[in-house]
Amino acid sequence: MTEHTLFTRIIEGEIPCYKLYENEYVFAFLDINPLSKGHTLLVSKEPAPSIDHLSQDSAAAIGKALPILSRAIKEATGAIAYNIIQNNGREAGMTVPHVHFHIIPKYKESKHVFTWEPKALDATEGKSIADAIQLSLNE
Ligand code: AMP
Repeated sequence: MTEHTLFTRIIEGEIPCYKLYENEYVFAFLDINPLSKGHTLLVSKEPAPSIDHLSQDSAAAIGKALPILSRAIKEATGAIAYNIIQNNGREAGMTVPHVHFHIIPKYKESKHVFTWEPKALDATEGKSIADAIQLSLNE
């Protein structure tokens, strides 16, 4: 059964959008509340709620589409740089639980920032978390 997320309804044309690109696996359109001119959403047609649930075929298609779209957005907008942001889970800022990537152009005059407060990696913690992740990867 197809899950009808907001983005599925956009993909199926039930909700209008400024469509930019589509192939068998992905769909791209302008974000309705852009952080900057050309702010784009690249969405998997597969309605996975987060990237860890996404099939390899959809993930590969997103990987192929990102540079194609980024090039077109840069060329069309004259952006000097851009961020690609992807949220997974409500606590990470995801408001639509359907895998999507934000491509957010940056201009000379852009003021938007993404809060980031890094701390040096503790050696003991680094070793134990790297070991745990490697174990999960090998399962
Ligand atoms: P996120 O917070 O990462 O889940 O991003 C969801 C994004 O979807 C937000 O940036 C919204 O502005 C955008 N959005 C929500 N509804 C629509 C819509 N109808 N058309 C285009 N973008 C939308």
